[in-house]
This record gives sequence, structure tokens and C-alpha cells, in this order.
Amino acid sequence: MKIHLDQVTKSYGEHRALDGICLELEDARSLTLIGPSGGGKSTTLRLIAGLEHPNSGYISVNEQLVPREESALRNYRKSIGVVFQSYNLFPHLDAVTNIALPLEKVHDCSKSESIDRANELLKRFKLAAHGNKRPSELSGGQNQRVAIARSLAHDPDLILFDEPTSALDPEMSAEVLDVIEELIQQGKDCVIVTHQMGFAKRASDFVAFISKGKIAESGRCQEIFEQAKTPGLQQFLERELKY
Ligand code: ADP
Repeated sequence: MKIHLDQVTKSYGEHRALDGICLELEDARSLTLIGPSGGGKSTTLRLIAGLEHPNSGYISVNEQLVPREESALRNYRKSIGVVFQSYNLFPHLDAVTNIALPLEKVHDCSKSESIDRANELLKRFKLAAHGNKRPSELSGGQNQRVAIARSLAHDPDLILFDEPTSALDPEMSAEVLDVIEELIQQGKDCVIVTHQMGFAKRASDFVAFISKGKIAESGRCQEIFEQAKTPGLQQFLERELKY
């Protein structure tokens, strides 16, 4: 994937969440955004997803500007998948329908095609026995795997993960991170906001450290974890990797 952020700013009222961030990424399969809470990671992800718009600056993904205009934005969103911390599944629908319905309503697939695809994905993520269960009948890890299956169902070019394991205990986090790592290994481009430094170290090609609304440092995974240059990143990693 190619991602280009050029002098991107985003404010909420008086508060400047992103303060002119720049990033030029060519030919990476996975990018992780790391950094202290409140630094601007999720905001960056939402802007890349086109869920919100910057106040100034430009964002392009695979050499296409993330559009602002509604119909172009609808098409752009069809080329990406987004996975949120809180799964965002429909509570009244079972797992199969949670995956199949957007395919039918947004991506113009037939009902039977959508259901077949949903079942195929549930099988791939070892959830075949749970297709008829609603989110309240599934564990957090299972729900997040359903959400990942849903994000993949229309075969997007890029999947964006916003703190996908923050709501999960360590065992469930591991089962979700295994799935994400597998997707990356299979060649799916991913951008991931995460606090899981072990995962970031293991699974990213490229890492951006976002702090106080700036990309304070970015680079290949090994450079970031083994040769951090800025005191901010050094201190952050020391703290995060202590326990
Ligand atoms: P991170 O993901 O690094 O924890 P965020 O991108 O969520 O950081 O937030 C960056 C800053 O922007 C924080 O100060 C946060 O409170 C603020 N912020 C994020 N989203 C909103 C919003 N919708 N309304 C107001 N402030 C927001």
C-alpha cells in the first residue's frame, strides 16, 4: 500500500488533535500507529478511513485522494474495511447476517451470494459453529473475529483496525491478534492502531509514533524498536516494554 499524509491538521473545537502530520509510505503491507493515549492515533485512522475530514492538508491512499464528496466517499469506503474497538456489530442480528447484510445492501451482492460468503468467512475464522448466534451470545474475541470477517467480506484493498483488542482480555486479544497477523502474512494491507507493542514489533513493516498531534518518529519496524532516535519514543517504548 501507499499512504501519503501531507500537513494534515484536525481540530475539535479549540483543541488541535492533529498538528500538521506528514507521512510518506511506499510499499508497506502493514503500518502500526503507536503512541501515548490522546496523541492522535485514532483520529489519524478515522481520517484515512474517510470517516472524518481534516481541517487542512491532504491524505491519499494508493495514490487516490481520500474524497470528501459523498458519492466518491461511498466508493472509497467500498475499497476499505474498518474494525473498531467495540466491534460495532448489529446486536439484534446473528453473526451470519451481520456479515451478509452489508454485502447485500452496500455492495450489491445477491442474498444467497452474501450468505455463502459470510459462511465461508466464519469457517475461515473458526466460527462456523456460531453463525446463528447474536453478539450477546458470543465472547468478545469471537465478536471481534466476526467484525474482522465483516470487514473482509467485500475483499477491500486495505483494512483499518482501531485498537482492535482494547476491550479484550489477554487470551481473547491473542486470538484476535493471531487473525490480524495471519491476514498480513496472506498479503492483506493493514493499518493498525494498537497498544500491543509485542504485536506491533512482530507484525508491522512500518511504524509511526504519534504523540501530541504529531508524527514524532516513523520508520521501518526494526529501526523504531531497536534504534529509536527521539527521547519521546525512547521513553514511550521503555515504559510500554517494561512489563
Ligand atoms: P489516541 O488514539 O492517540 O488515544 P485520539 O486520536 O483518540 O488519540 O485523540 C486525540 C485528541 O483528540 C485527544 O485529546 C482527544 O480527546 C481528542 N478527540 C478525539 N476525538 C474527538 C472528538 N470526536 N471530539 C472531541 N475531541 C476529540
